[in-house]
Amino acid sequence: MKPLIIVHGGAGALPEIVDGPQAAAQAGLAHLLLHGDPLEAVVEAARVMEDDPRFNAGTGSNLRLDGARIQMDASVMADDGRFGAVMALERTRNPILVARAVIDTPHLMLAGEGAQNLARRLGLPDFDPTTPEARRKFEKWRLENPVVPHDRWRNFPEEMRAHDTIGAVVRGPDGRFAVSCSTGGTTMMLLGRVGDSPIVGAGLYAGPAGAVTATGEGEEIIRRFLSLRVYERMARGESAESAGRAELDAIPAGVAVGLIAAGLDGAWGGSNRQMPFALLTGPA
Ligand code: ASP
Repeated sequence: MKPLIIVHGGAGALPEIVDGPQAAAQAGLAHLLLHGDPLEAVVEAARVMEDDPRFNAGTGSNLRLDGARIQMDASVMADDGRFGAVMALERTRNPILVARAVIDTPHLMLAGEGAQNLARRLGLPDFDPTTPEARRKFEKWRLENPVVPHDRWRNFPEEMRAHDTIGAVVRGPDGRFAVSCSTGGTTMMLLGRVGDSPIVGAGLYAGPAGAVTATGEGEEIIRRFLSLRVYERMARGESAESAGRAELDAIPAGVAVGLIAAGLDGAWGGSNRQMPFALLTGPA
């Protein structure tokens, strides 16, 4: 079977930055061809995307409602059920590496301080992922939204000051699948808000029939268990494209969602907004 990788740069991200997913897909595929492990290949692709400041994951993540804090979610899953996730992780360059390390603990998910402590334990140093562009994005959004409904639930300890996730799916030459995703979240986020990206079945899913990851409005993706729904269609014999399209078509028009999926038949990516993504196939 031909190995393949598909990497996206987020629902709503501009098509001009497709070179980001292309470079990450190349890095992931090279890793796969060298080491043969889909799980490590999706981690590598996500790591490359996290280091690209144009994307809302790792460096370049969105700021929270206070205009100061960044809290990131990331997760990784293999088709044999291995899963690791971090939620609301702060001050770390590559959340995906911490999510990967969670797989080797007795747990599935680590949040906040515990996740950050694990990052330090892994030797990942204190790191501020804030970029000038993320600040500009926040200020612009704040100007456009002078009244923020979330303000009534503000849970920040300090005073108030003013979306494009990444994901990767791999099919190995032996037909094994893995998936990763990483995000700085959406806009209008309270402190501690967790999206779909670290939630198994919502932001991602992998099993023997394929692997899927979602991007867009996390709250809607969680309610629908969107990635699991696409996966279940593939497990019933639908192609990645037919499964992904059917679930995407069911999303209300006002809700931004994107999906990438790989199955035994091939891979597909689509969104009801713009979404840069890259699909690469290796030799059989
Ligand atoms: N799904 C992510 C979240 O809700 C955001 C995104 O995909 O842009 O946190």
